[in-house]
Amino acid sequence: MTALDFSTHPRALSRVSSESPPVNAPPKSPAPRVIFHVDMDAFFASVEQRDHPEYRGRPVIVGSPPDQRGVVCAASYEARKFKIHSAMPSRTAGRLCPHGVFVRPRMDAYRAESAAIMEILRSVTPIIEKVSVDEAYLDLSTAFENHAAADAALEAALPVAQEIKRRIATERKLTASIGVAANKFLAKLGSDFRKPDGLTVIRERDKVDFLRPLPVRSIHGVGPVTAQVLEAAGFRTIGDLQSRDADLSDLVGSFSESLKARALGIDDRPVETDGERKSISAENTFLVDTDDRPTLRGVLRELALDVAHTLGRHGLGALTVQVKVRYSDFTTLTRQVRVEDPVTDVREIYRLAQFLLARDRLVKSPLRLLGIGVSTLVPPDRNQLLLPL
Ligand SMILES: [Mg+2]
Repeated sequence: MTALDFSTHPRALSRVSSESPPVNAPPKSPAPRVIFHVDMDAFFASVEQRDHPEYRGRPVIVGSPPDQRGVVCAASYEARKFKIHSAMPSRTAGRLCPHGVFVRPRMDAYRAESAAIMEILRSVTPIIEKVSVDEAYLDLSTAFENHAAADAALEAALPVAQEIKRRIATERKLTASIGVAANKFLAKLGSDFRKPDGLTVIRERDKVDFLRPLPVRSIHGVGPVTAQVLEAAGFRTIGDLQSRDADLSDLVGSFSESLKARALGIDDRPVETDGERKSISAENTFLVDTDDRPTLRGVLRELALDVAHTLGRHGLGALTVQVKVRYSDFTTLTRQVRVEDPVTDVREIYRLAQFLLARDRLVKSPLRLLGIGVSTLVPPDRNQLLLPL
């Protein structure tokens, strides 16, 4: 396939399918798609355990030390058993797991590791969407287009997934979980299904059954708030959404259509190869330069609220939070922190921003401007989504 061969390019296909067909067009025959979701297992913590054998088997918490103001960036599986998760204050993590191994993040090491892993993935297909430092979708549809049946194509792709896992294990000494399915939604559920070191295929003929028992919050975009609304109306499992004819739009507004589609395992979103994603930011220029802490805290809270609302409107979470300060002499500094689970919540954004200001002592003289930005925007999955209800 060449780059100009739009007839077989998966993005071209998806674009067509997302528009309403011309009135006299023949019914489109759905081309089988083969999508992988590759997700590294507890990535930051696993890199630390690989590089420090003495950490293996122990609860590793990547982030600030527990006796300092700061946050958890990532937790190993051993630490997760203590209910530790990213964006949690380190002090809380220290209380939950007093014997945890607290490790300062080494973002340069994780970025280098990420590049090496993406290199492996890119050797499989150039149609790759890097979702975050440790996660990517691959579109292998064209490689298996000779299989007429969707499930035959998925089966045929399995050895490729096994080979990716083998190469990551032998070359990088890390484990990945992979989901194989006909779309991104199912592939992502697949990678999450048997973590760590999992490989799950969700066949088209099995997808409705696979989805049926899962809680409604397994659908991306359904956070705790939406889940509560759905559950209160009797929709506890995805099966409840599949079998009933009820009008979900009363409950979840414009989200209802994609919610119903997801419940049936339908997702036409293309694998987006242009990795650059937009960012969201808010900033405030002070009338009079200030280093008054209560004033700055108040403004920081408003900025966090602003950013959280915009994220909520777009149904997104952020993996990177950034602060920006400008001093009286117009010197401008930015600092950012990366977390493992997407943040959507105003308190989490505020806490991370405050952590950055404190960590690097950015308020060393009066500020002319203060800003918060978020980037690496992803579906919020496990986090709360502020849906317009
Ligand atoms: Mg991961």
